[in-house]
Amino acid sequence: MNLPADSRAVHVRAPGKINLYLGVGGRQTDGYHELATVFQAVSLFEDVTATLADEITVHTTGPQAHDGVPTDDRNLAVRAAKLLAHATGYRGGAHLEIYKQVPVAGGMGGGSADAAATLVALDHLWQLGLTLSELHELGSQLGADVPFALQGGTAIGTGRGDDLHPALATGRFDWVLLTSSRGLSTPEVYARLDSRREENSLIFPLTPEVPPVVLQSLRGGFPEDLAEALHNDLQAPACELRPELADTIRHGVVAGALNAIVSGSGPTVALLCGGADEAAAAVERLREAGLRGQHVHGPVHGARIMNASPHDE
Ligand code: ATP
Repeated sequence: MNLPADSRAVHVRAPGKINLYLGVGGRQTDGYHELATVFQAVSLFEDVTATLADEITVHTTGPQAHDGVPTDDRNLAVRAAKLLAHATGYRGGAHLEIYKQVPVAGGMGGGSADAAATLVALDHLWQLGLTLSELHELGSQLGADVPFALQGGTAIGTGRGDDLHPALATGRFDWVLLTSSRGLSTPEVYARLDSRREENSLIFPLTPEVPPVVLQSLRGGFPEDLAEALHNDLQAPACELRPELADTIRHGVVAGALNAIVSGSGPTVALLCGGADEAAAAVERLREAGLRGQHVHGPVHGARIMNASPHDE
């Protein structure tokens, strides 16, 4: 049956991300830090299905749905919907049904993926016809990771992380994710980094840059090279706040990963593997050690309209 665009449920899928490199500069007067990062979108997705309604409401289901996700105006998807309505003068509402697979407060940008998916879904549902760059502009007002969730692939992010340039990546990279049921607060991890730098008078670049070796290894497409280039300035503070992360990293390397890195502000740990078979073997070894690893790959697409409902695919 062919329904008119505005009466159909619009389903958009947006990816979670891993930071392959994350350099953090000094804290600025507005509280933000200058970043130099490389994002890769991975095959762990958020599905947002939007339908017309009088108000803007949200409901979350799926393996990562839990009480930590607000359902009021603090929810990033609700904020995205309200911002879009405000920016375009649209006067109606929508119900947003989120199927959550990206861990909450896991350092994988799940809330940002929800916001990106909502912008794309409502632009279609409300027939607004915004350009991608207009959606990017609205996305960056919602959070530094939202533009990347719209774009996907592999990209360099500078400024607050939202000034994006695509990075050339050859082939696919296989990752095993070790997620945690308890999230880490991003501001707390940054605050710990700042205080350690201050206490120890550490020297760091105010405006960090992505080292060329990271981009060369992505272009070359060899996971062994990328494994050596992985780096995250937030890893040490995240491990201080959550000491068991050091064990998780060690388990990952013992299970056969080429290297392990905390993604973003953590606590998700991403294990880079030599290929799909190696990742499957690592998942099995981790299972024997009592840990649940999830095999994903990257790069994948950014927020994209899907035709069917998420559960029919
Ligand atoms: P980032 O690294 O981008 O700060 P993250 O991936 O570590 O984020 P998110 O899952 O995006 O973490 O959410 C961080 C916090 O934002 C959550 O603890 C929650 O209170 C709030 N939040 C608001 N909207 C959402 C949403 N749609 N999904 C998940 N959390 C949300």
